[in-house]
Amino acid sequence: MAITRLLIANRGEIALRIHRAAHEMGIETVAVHSTADTEAMHVRLADHAICIGPPPATDSYLNTAAIIAAAEISGADAIHPGYGFLSENAQFAEIVEAHGICWIGPKPEHIRTMGDKVEAKRTAGKLGLPLVPGSDGAVSDILEAEKIAEEIGYPVIIKAASGGGGRGMKVCTGPEQLDALMRQAGNEAKAAFGDDTIYIEKYLGNPRHIEFQVFGDGRGEAIHLGERDCSLQRRHQKVLEEAPSPVITPAERDRMGGIVARAMADMGYRGAGTIEFLWENGEFYFIEMNTRLQVEHPVTEAITGVDLVREQIRIADGKPLSVKQDEIEFKGHAIECRINAEDPWTFAPSPGLVTAYHAAGGMHVRVDSGLYAGYRIPPYYDSMIAKLIVYGRTREGCIMRLRRALEEMVVEGVKTSIPLHQQLLREPDVLNGDYSIKWLEDWLARREA
Ligand code: ADP
Repeated sequence: MAITRLLIANRGEIALRIHRAAHEMGIETVAVHSTADTEAMHVRLADHAICIGPPPATDSYLNTAAIIAAAEISGADAIHPGYGFLSENAQFAEIVEAHGICWIGPKPEHIRTMGDKVEAKRTAGKLGLPLVPGSDGAVSDILEAEKIAEEIGYPVIIKAASGGGGRGMKVCTGPEQLDALMRQAGNEAKAAFGDDTIYIEKYLGNPRHIEFQVFGDGRGEAIHLGERDCSLQRRHQKVLEEAPSPVITPAERDRMGGIVARAMADMGYRGAGTIEFLWENGEFYFIEMNTRLQVEHPVTEAITGVDLVREQIRIADGKPLSVKQDEIEFKGHAIECRINAEDPWTFAPSPGLVTAYHAAGGMHVRVDSGLYAGYRIPPYYDSMIAKLIVYGRTREGCIMRLRRALEEMVVEGVKTSIPLHQQLLREPDVLNGDYSIKWLEDWLARREA
């Protein structure tokens, strides 16, 4: 089956990103949008556009019936979900396939397995990935929980099986808190995800967040495209990402990359995926797998030269992987800054009219964004309005270029996180690559004091 018309079930920069890959492959695009996004760039660029509902995402970008109807009306033969929204909804993937539409994503059963963190951990363990020590599956009994926590040693972290976006996690420092925190975690998980299943693992004190990009053809072939370091986080949200990680040697990359690629091959995994690890004292610990394209995928594209969205579309279309493992070379360094419409220091959202806009340019500078002067950023969605991705032959050169590019960016009318990135890129620890997942919040607290 050859894809000829692709419906993009998303908005913002990622909808543009997918549109660009599609057009470079000679594929027409169909945008879907809420009434708040009529003037959005993804709607303007697409070949066809269909309004699917009012502003709240539950009525539009999460409205499966409206999206399937839009695909049928427009004659789309494929759907790309982007990230967020319906991208990790196994049932949606099944519905798309049941309508004879090509789903540009993993097999629904793999989305389902990896979406349940207890199942994901069990599967990862079976596939030979190193795990964070913890309970073998879900825990409901307090006596059992005490025994497990005693064995692995405090502090422990209580996590929700259906968790996501860093929510529903509780750190427990001693047995006297365990009972209360387990109840709290269960209740919060029930309220947020409709599922109170919880599990326990060792709380790592000062790890880095390092994730591997993988790709499978769904028929037993799989490759890895190296790692990304996403340790600079605030409230478990990534702020700046880089590839390669400053702490991973080529030998480590080959070793761990080989393990994750083999695991994906054994699973028969199809499409793009990310295996997330915490990394401490030279050891990797699996935490979860994302069965979709990630926001930070361009840093991998910059250092490997592989177009990940093009690869997703090819694989969904039944074609083989376009590169073999031994053809992938990791060259240079890339950093991505997530630019949000928010106050750079209080992080309060700042939607509204963009009165002036100029994107940075020049050699090795990429801006993925749907912004333009006169665009009104709606208050209903994620605050990320642009990604600035910069490449350099060395990490140092990349940082110098990134500082220059940030100086050039103009976004007027709303507050943005550009000043935060500018300050970050002057911090000795960031320049030295010497940071963990705790670093950014500690730094923000020190600034406030
Ligand atoms: P989510 O799906 O909600 O994003 P993750 O399991 O990916 O949850 O964890 C999100 C973040 O929480 C991690 O990037 C890390 O900062 C922190 N975290 C998760 N598990 C642990 C752990 N065992 N020890 C320390 N920090 C953890």
